[in-house]
Amino acid sequence: STTAFDAIIIGAGAAGLFCAAQAGQRGLKVLLLDHSPRIAEKVRIAGGGRCNFTNRDLDPRAPQRHFVGENPNFCRSALARYTPAQFIALVDRHGIRWHEKHKGQLFCDDSSQQIIDLLLAECQAGGVTRWQPCSVQGVTHADGLYRIETQRGPVQAPQLVIATGGLSIPQLGATDFGYRIAEQFGLRLVAPRPALVPLTFGGEAWAPYAGLAGLALPVRMATGSKKSRMEFLEDLLFTHRGLSGPAVLQISSYWTPGAPLQIDLAPGVDAAEALQAAKRDSRKRVANELAALMPARLADAWAASDEALQRPINEAGDKALSRLAERISRWEITPSGSEGYKKAEVTAGGVDTRELSSQTLESKQPGLYFIGEVVDVTGWLGGYNFQWAWASAHACAQALRPA
Ligand code: FAD
Repeated sequence: STTAFDAIIIGAGAAGLFCAAQAGQRGLKVLLLDHSPRIAEKVRIAGGGRCNFTNRDLDPRAPQRHFVGENPNFCRSALARYTPAQFIALVDRHGIRWHEKHKGQLFCDDSSQQIIDLLLAECQAGGVTRWQPCSVQGVTHADGLYRIETQRGPVQAPQLVIATGGLSIPQLGATDFGYRIAEQFGLRLVAPRPALVPLTFGGEAWAPYAGLAGLALPVRMATGSKKSRMEFLEDLLFTHRGLSGPAVLQISSYWTPGAPLQIDLAPGVDAAEALQAAKRDSRKRVANELAALMPARLADAWAASDEALQRPINEAGDKALSRLAERISRWEITPSGSEGYKKAEVTAGGVDTRELSSQTLESKQPGLYFIGEVVDVTGWLGGYNFQWAWASAHACAQALRPA
């Protein structure tokens, strides 16, 4: 039989484009196809339009620091063989100017379109054939070849790479295609769930806080207990339906339904001590003193919740002040759910890493590879998810062989 391509890659997002480019530049004949008419939509919208394309703090020797998954060590090999420094060098070769914003996060100075242009130029340098838009009806495997039924007719190759991402932002073309292919070939999945997502708190319970929508402040936020405890020092944002901002997005990847969050609204401050000191020295109302520790709107809301605090602080009882201090430094609240895939930046879970080689991303089904977000590897907010896309794509591209 005639095989036109060495490898077919389904999904022209971050991982698929990068894998196609690398494999093409190694001399392989690659077909890249995507059902969407638009290219790399998630790169375009990423980082508020400036694409947070990697993170300098990533330490491949300690991946569990910045990645979530049933086996956080799985990503170590690929991340070690394609590092943030290597992607930065590529960005520099393309003359793209960038800056560091916060905790190692690197953004384009101008626009995420520059990263899309980089990926397209690299694909062109590799002679990649791209079919887009091109939907896929089905995949079969026989005699060592994958046969793909597409909108443009059947096509086959000995190697098939699935780079169709996760379920987040369905309005941008996300599908469960990758999970269905895994199941078709008998590969296990870790149940997908929305991650890097705002958390909600159900109508009634949230009523007292709904008026705080729009308020942002730095907090320390934690969830889990003992060994599973995770903690972030980041900004928190109150919304009409619940909580958002980087602190909540980060914690959402670790939060399990039913578990409470602990929030320190005045991190780095001993609230009990500060209130006692104010009680000794001040005759201002409690809410006014509290406003020294947090935004005034929040201070008003917190003081208003207790009758015993509606007075000058020197007249407030010690018990009421210690209750208040507890509600500042250890506000405990249990989310009722999340905003779901519509608002989730990523999908946690996915193809079970026990089914994949950490060296090549090839599955137990020979010739079938999974890269990027479709795999049960989820990065923190801050460029870690793109670095996983680049690194897993690179590892796969090195392993693909001429037919
Ligand atoms: P994707 O980039 O999602 O690509 C999957 C491709 O597969 C898409 O082109 C899709 O059209 C195609 N596809 C899907 N189903 C099919 C099908 N059935 N047939 C054919 N094609 C199909 N990460 C960061 O590191 N930094 C950021 O700044 C950042 N910002 C983000 C902002 C937002 C709003 C969102 C939603 C995500 C952000 N992320 C960010 C996460 C990051 O975008 C993803 O982790 C990354 O794009 C995953 O790459 P991927 O190639 O695996 O999947």
